[in-house]
Amino acid sequence: MTTNLEYLEQNDPAVFAALRGEENRQRMGIELIPSENYTFPEVLATLGSVFTNKYSEGYPGRRYYGGQEFTDQIETLARDRAKEVFRCEHANVQPLSGSAMNQAVYLGLLEPGDTILAMDLSHGGHLTHGAPVSHMGKIFNFERYVTNPVDGSIDFDKVREDALKYRPKMILAGYTSYPRDLDYAAFVSIAEEVGAISMTDASHFGGLVAGGAMKNPFDFGFDVVTTTTHKSLRGPRGGMILCKKEFAKKIDKSVFPGLQGGPHMNAVAGIATTLLNAQGQEFKDYARQVLLNAKALAAGFIERQASLVTGGTDNHMMVIDTSISYGIDGRVAEELLDQASITTNKQIIPDDPNPPLRPSGIRIGTPAATARGMREADMEKLAGWIHICLSNPEDEAKITSIKGEVEEFCQQFPVPGLE
Ligand SMILES: *Cc1c(COP(=O)(O)O)cnc(C)c1O
Repeated sequence: MTTNLEYLEQNDPAVFAALRGEENRQRMGIELIPSENYTFPEVLATLGSVFTNKYSEGYPGRRYYGGQEFTDQIETLARDRAKEVFRCEHANVQPLSGSAMNQAVYLGLLEPGDTILAMDLSHGGHLTHGAPVSHMGKIFNFERYVTNPVDGSIDFDKVREDALKYRPKMILAGYTSYPRDLDYAAFVSIAEEVGAISMTDASHFGGLVAGGAMKNPFDFGFDVVTTTTHKSLRGPRGGMILCKKEFAKKIDKSVFPGLQGGPHMNAVAGIATTLLNAQGQEFKDYARQVLLNAKALAAGFIERQASLVTGGTDNHMMVIDTSISYGIDGRVAEELLDQASITTNKQIIPDDPNPPLRPSGIRIGTPAATARGMREADMEKLAGWIHICLSNPEDEAKITSIKGEVEEFCQQFPVPGLE
């Protein structure tokens, strides 16, 4: 019998070759982009399954097309498991990505022109938190809170003052490049005082909340929590909106028919099976190890006198100020590390004087490396390699020799789903 992959190889050698190339790249290099991960083999199976053939507009039991016996089963499973894992009253698992998920929340719960108080983008907020280039930044009025660059803390007296001044309809916690945990109780208390909806965008750390390694915003009374499903959670690319019952109807209507048409049922099946994995001891151990590895990696950089934004990390990521530490910008640092098969991303730092394509730092995270089985001692090696590369930007021979060491090292760590 011809397998699906063999069909691809025969009929489209160009796409097949690129697929093999990407598999090899993922095997041979160390993935340190904090938003990336290796999904579970079960998820690769569901994504490449016949669920991709099916239209399922609507929700379980209320669809606009026939033939929904099995799609209803998987969406119900995904929703029930999401509620259990995140201890919340309602879950919508249809958003096609993190961006669509946040758009659906803003558009469903607010009116155009309403104010949202969110983290400044250079301090860690995400593009979807009202970047001027995003459509949401034009539709809603975003006001900003910032962090203390020395220890990364948020000044909640100032947040409260701003909340009283701007009277936001929503207060948004959550981040894409902030290496610390959040004081959820402080956010909720301010939101309640000014009558704002409280929302956490847990896109980066949803898996760490699911695995019990980081605090759950619902335990502090948050109204809405969103998370992507493909970052620390290790599921398919997608998004979930989790919320209190009182917002359930508005959220569901906002996702469909407000923003989207048919959900991607192959991804919904992947989310369902990811959330089963997330309930097991192995995933709890994984989430804990992600944080231990981040602490070890950060310690390795600090030992080598590198400057980390906020001085360290409480979560799965860190931001190195490469301008101060090594006299090179983040783009040069990213390219140097790429040459050594270590993948990171250039990153703006708080109030960065440099432009976004040549920012002052790089962002590094441990979810993917941990999924391959790397531990604290391996992080110490990584810190050493990265430090040598960034300290010797002109020394091609040194970078090439580290690439060799990295590729040899990677052979000990199978890529989930690939072997
Ligand atoms: C990644 C991310 C998103 C967007 O997710 P996409 O799937 O890339 O659209 C939204 N918010 C935060 C905080 C993120 O980190």
